[in-house]
Amino acid sequence: MKALVYTDVEELIYKEEKDPIEKVGESILKVHASGICGSDMHAYHGKDERRIPPLILGHEVSGKILNGIFKDKTAVLNPLITCGKCEYCLNGREHLCQDRVLLGMNRPHVRQGAFAEMITVPNQNIYEVPEKLNIKEAAVAEPTAVSLHAVLMAERSSKTSLPECRILVQGAGAIGLLCSLILSKIKGNNNITISDPNKLRLDECSKYVDAKFVGPKDKEVNTDGFDIVFDTVGLEISRQQAITVVKPGGIIIHIGLTQPSGQFNFRKATLQEVTFIGTYCYTNKDFENTIKILADKDLGDLNWIEYRDLKKGAEAFKQIHKGTCAAPKIVLLP
Ligand SMILES: [Zn+2]
Ligand SMILES: [Zn+2]
Repeated sequence: MKALVYTDVEELIYKEEKDPIEKVGESILKVHASGICGSDMHAYHGKDERRIPPLILGHEVSGKILNGIFKDKTAVLNPLITCGKCEYCLNGREHLCQDRVLLGMNRPHVRQGAFAEMITVPNQNIYEVPEKLNIKEAAVAEPTAVSLHAVLMAERSSKTSLPECRILVQGAGAIGLLCSLILSKIKGNNNITISDPNKLRLDECSKYVDAKFVGPKDKEVNTDGFDIVFDTVGLEISRQQAITVVKPGGIIIHIGLTQPSGQFNFRKATLQEVTFIGTYCYTNKDFENTIKILADKDLGDLNWIEYRDLKKGAEAFKQIHKGTCAAPKIVLLP
């Protein structure tokens, strides 16, 4: 089969790779669509110790099952492979399983990703796509589940009901846009500000969600007053801004993890009882609910997804790196 292989830092090559082999308890998916995630970019920059070249990246994937019990079904994959027997797996918090592996990672062991014509996956990670959901659009189930999980974490901790909250979303990438769409179209909040230094992306996102769109230096996002801040960026500087602008008793939802360390205003966090919540992936239940949300078109049209040929994937990575893409999500088609 053909695959887009991550061969070295900032290098991807479209080339011939071995077909996946049939395994007990697994099925092979013919990939129809596979999205480029922020974490793929992180790997591309050589900054992910769990993704070492050579490796096929990609974990936001939908397609058709070629063999086994789901043969001929249209499916979207939950890329998070967990043990199924630890305390987290048994209590609906599978994403915290310590033996978890994601598709498109090779540490602690190899799991090839979805920037390829085919991929093999455990049967329990296969979710059927309802007929009313477009197979290509189903590829955004994964980032949508990440966003849904983050919004639910905020909702559970907030003393103020979500529609009453003034909310800042840092980052106008797919996770920023999806959190905003869920907050506004499902949770009924109409007091969202989205900040991003990339004007192209802000303009693109403004077509799909009702919010204020500003650069990170705008005074709107430099004075205290937000009940909840979603940091989908995860840089030291975005965390510092989050703690500066969050209200006493407010919440920071930390989703991005571009830069895992750095200074933080622990004084304010302590004296003003700011809740800092780290959030990672989603539970199986969140993933199931996400498919329903997408199938029911609860987030409106998904024309913010840009589709490109897998063959030209390397170019897409380059453009995302340079910040010249307006689309918050690029999905590659084999
Ligand atoms: Zn992802
Ligand atoms: Zn487990």
